[in-house]
Amino acid sequence: MSDVIVIGGGPAGISAAIYLKRFKLDVCVLMKDFGALDKTEHIENFYGFSQPITGHELVENGLKQAKRLGVEIKFEEVLGIDAEDLFTVKTVQNEYKSKAVLLATGSSRASFRIPGFVDFVGKGISYCAICDGFLYRKKAIALLGEGEFMAEELDVLRNFSSDLTVFTNGLPLKAKIGETKVISDTIRSLEGGETLQTIVTENGRYDVKALFVAVGTPSATDFALRMGAFIEKNVIVVDENYQTNIPGLFAAGDCIGGLSQIAKAVSDGAQAAIALQKFIRSKTS
Ligand SMILES: Cc1cc2nc3c(=O)[nH]c(=O)nc-3n(C[C@H](O)[C@H](O)[C@H](O)COP(=O)(O)OP(=O)(O)OC[C@H]3O[C@@H](n4cnc5c(N)ncnc54)[C@H](O)[C@@H]3O)c2cc1C
Repeated sequence: MSDVIVIGGGPAGISAAIYLKRFKLDVCVLMKDFGALDKTEHIENFYGFSQPITGHELVENGLKQAKRLGVEIKFEEVLGIDAEDLFTVKTVQNEYKSKAVLLATGSSRASFRIPGFVDFVGKGISYCAICDGFLYRKKAIALLGEGEFMAEELDVLRNFSSDLTVFTNGLPLKAKIGETKVISDTIRSLEGGETLQTIVTENGRYDVKALFVAVGTPSATDFALRMGAFIEKNVIVVDENYQTNIPGLFAAGDCIGGLSQIAKAVSDGAQAAIALQKFIRSKTS
């Protein structure tokens, strides 16, 4: 068990992990990739580099620095978090326990350019099976996604309906989902009145009561939503200590909004670590 699990190995997560380790706490970083900076060729506005550095190099340097201090870093995609006495963080491969969690997963969910999509968010379109699945029990439910995240949401939805269809929207299906019907056409539009009624693809029309979105990897706001943490305008709401409304669940970096810059993410990580350290000490004293 760790004192703190940091989800995200970008500037916010690694900055936090470095501070936490130097506070002599057990910290484990879970990350799926190099984050927003991976494709950036020239960073010229971050303090301390006389020559431009690539985003990949900057993240790599941060990882090396954290490892040198003894931070445990694992490349695993996180699928979900449960908060009870301890936090349980579920990845594609494993489950980990900790006393606190820092969400540092960068900017949140993808937006879709499917005509009608925006109109039906909250009116048939949901981002959280555990929150809204019950509303559509025994109804025709669609699920948008292609990977393990979608498979997790599908498992939750099986509790509410057997009329389930997965739409991959042109992407190859990556998860094993048994006998569930899969439509891999590109979605052309979403139609309805007050609420969503029909998914129109390049080859067909499908009447549904709900569309649950679970594309790619869950973002910080997806985790937060499922845990009942407050979200506003698609960013996680934190207090002055970077803590959400759920005790022990902290967030930092792009996922809490504000300036989307490395300097701000690094600062968030450091400040969240100081608050986390106080939180852990208060639990153990
Ligand atoms: C193209 C581009 C260019 C930019 N150029 C600059 C620049 O020049 N200067 C500047 O200051 N800022 C720049 N930015 C902004 C900067 O990249 C971000 O502000 C900064 O990276 C935010 O840091 P973060 O730690 O919050 O998130 P990120 O750096 O995005 O890190 C997110 C981390 O979370 C992990 N993660 C996400 N979901 C999961 C999951 N489900 N399971 C496990 N791990 C997960 C990712 O693997 C990654 O490690 C640029 C951004 C982009 C997109």
